[in-house]
Formats: sequence, structure tokens, C-alpha cells
Amino acid sequence: MELLDPAGVNDHEEVAFRQDRASGLRSIIAIHSTKLGPALGGTRFLPYPTEDDALADVLRLARAMSYKSAAAGLNFGGGKGVIIGDPHRTKTDALLRAYAEFIESLGGRYITTEDVGSTEQDMNVIAQYTRHVTGTSEGSHDPSEATAWGVFCAMRAVTARCLGQSTMAGLHVAVQGVGKVGSSLLRYLRAEGCGLTIADTSEEVLRHMSRRADVTIVPTEEIHSFPSDIFSPCALSGTLNEKTIPQLRCRAVIGCANNQLAIPEAAEMLASREIVYAPDFIVNAGGVINIAHEMGGSYDHNAAFDHVARIADTITRVVDLSQSEGITTEAAAERIAEERINAA
Ligand code: NAD
Repeated sequence: MELLDPAGVNDHEEVAFRQDRASGLRSIIAIHSTKLGPALGGTRFLPYPTEDDALADVLRLARAMSYKSAAAGLNFGGGKGVIIGDPHRTKTDALLRAYAEFIESLGGRYITTEDVGSTEQDMNVIAQYTRHVTGTSEGSHDPSEATAWGVFCAMRAVTARCLGQSTMAGLHVAVQGVGKVGSSLLRYLRAEGCGLTIADTSEEVLRHMSRRADVTIVPTEEIHSFPSDIFSPCALSGTLNEKTIPQLRCRAVIGCANNQLAIPEAAEMLASREIVYAPDFIVNAGGVINIAHEMGGSYDHNAAFDHVARIADTITRVVDLSQSEGITTEAAAERIAEERINAA
């Protein structure tokens, strides 16, 4: 009998749930693939409305991690962890210890690092109870800076390849979410001479940004439709959907957020509007590339960042393949990743 699998669990090698009543931990770890190596992916700590929402998110994110590492040429598989709860209210050392023991119980098949709602300090706590963690203060630190550098390199490559300009100077970029990655990205864009518009849900971020004369702030529900050359989703998943895509007023979408395409038709909808979509799992690979350097032995920051800059070559290859084959950039990027996973 064929079992129903609406969430897509069967597509994954392993999906584990852990509840620890004493510390309040409720967590899911999904391992999508270990074909190329141990499944690497961050820990997302969010107050998901339901366990089904958390499961759907962790499955999608784990799969994207497989594709990300494969397309970046790294010997990692894909996995992800989610902790259900408000990180500002429920995060304690006891909860992080229970989570670390959960990771340890998977015997190294899953390796964690930072993601939305988790920090370098959290990784330091987790590292006391499991070796299968990276992005700690002892290692390559928070990967967000490397991720931002990779997004910026992808923007420069798409500008040169598709927007008909040799530099980004004078281009306008609308950034949705100015957190760990978005704030570093703004620094690169400002230095390049770009015009900047941002939106964020955090009062603290907006207070900080309002001090910058060169940044325009718009409400969160308007950022995607603000006229720009590049719209950069750097907040949460699912920004590009049937409602937002017709409202976009940009020439390219290039951002760090995972799983930006909310619906299967999204890539075709963007292509038919002649908006260049730079697939998220290619663009935001800087963090995992940086981590691969940490795990390869003594960490050399310059070597890691030079490697991250090669995201520019990968995105150019994706655009070339999409044009030569008449397929979307998303399909081209998936093809590049799948070829490597299937050959393993
Ligand atoms: P973060 O939590 O530091 O930043 C996210 C920011 O988005 C916050 O400032 C938050 O207030 C804001 N935000 C939330 N909802 C919003 C909305 N609806 N509109 C506008 N702003 C909103 O997270 P981060 O580490 O910067 O990561 C951002 C995204 O990039 C996530 O999707 C993450 O999974 C992805 N990503 C991050 C890394 C990394 O190295 N940190 C690597 C790959 C992918």
C-alpha cells in the first residue's frame, strides 16, 4: 500500500523528533541526504504555530541544504534542525544541552550551526555536549559575514551578466530584512555606491537604521514592490508567491533567505516577467563554504572568502545553462546540484 506523504518525509533519509519535558525542548532534525558527506545545516529557533509548520519548514530547508552544498562543490549532505519556541523567552542552557544530546544521538550524521534564532554563543553551549557543531567562537565564528559576501558576489556577477553594467555603482537595491546577513550586505552595497531601501519587522533594527541618512526605510508590506534594480530577500522563507511576484518592480531577485519560492510556479512566473531570479541555494552558500574551510583543518579567512567569491562563477554558469537549455534559473541550478549528488 502506498502511504500518503503530504509533507515530503519520504524524500529524506531520516527525520527525528525529540521532546524533553524537563527543559521544554521540542525539536525536529531532518537529514535529507548524506550521499556526499555528513548532513550540514543550521538550527532554526522559531515559535512555529504548529508542529506541522515546523515539520514542513525543516524538510524544505534540509533538502535545500543538500542542493546548496552539492552545487557549491562541497562534500556535505543536507540537513536542518528546528527548535519550536520563542528564542527570546524559552532558550536556556538546559534546553540547548538537551538539543545537543539529540544531535549527539545521531552519531555525526547531522552537524549543526547558526540559523535564524540561534547564535554563535548558542553554538558554544552546544559544543560542550557534542562535537557535531560548527560556527563556534573557537572556529570560523558566525557564518553570516561569509554569506553576505557571497550574496554580494552573486549580485556583481548578475549585474555584469544580465543587467548590462560592469559595476553596481548607481544601482538601487531593496533589502527585505536587515539581520545578521542583511546588515553585512548593506556595508558591501554602500561601499559599492548603491542606493539602498530596507524594511524590517524589528523595532531595534529600524531604530538603528533610521540614523543612516543614506538608507530609506519602507513598511515591510511594501519592500518587494519598491522600484529597484535588485530586490534582495534576506528575512524568512516564501517571499515570492502568486501575490508578490506580479507586484515586483525590479530587474533581478538576489538574496540570502532560504526557500524564497513559495509555490512551484514561482520560477516560471519570474521568468515570464523577465526578472532574473538568482536561486537562493546558489547565492547563500557562503556560510557553508566558510564552514567547510573550518572543518578542513586550520582556518584561513582569506582562503575561505576567496572560495566564497567563486559563487559568482556558479551563478554565471546557472544563467548560461538556463539560457542555452531554455529552462528557468531554478531548474538549471537544480540540475547542476542533482548531477553531482547522483554521481556520488
Ligand atoms: P536574522 O534573524 O539575523 O535576520 C533576519 C531579519 O529579518 C531580522 O532582522 C528580522 O527582524 C527580519 N524580518 C523578519 N521577518 C521580516 C519581514 N516579514 N519583513 C522584513 N524583515 C523581516 O537572520 P539571518 O541570519 O540574517 O538570515 C536571514 C535569512 O538568510 C534566513 O532565511 C536564513 O535562513 C538565511 N540564511 C542565512 C545564513 C547565515 O549565514 N546567517 C546562511 C544561509 C541562509
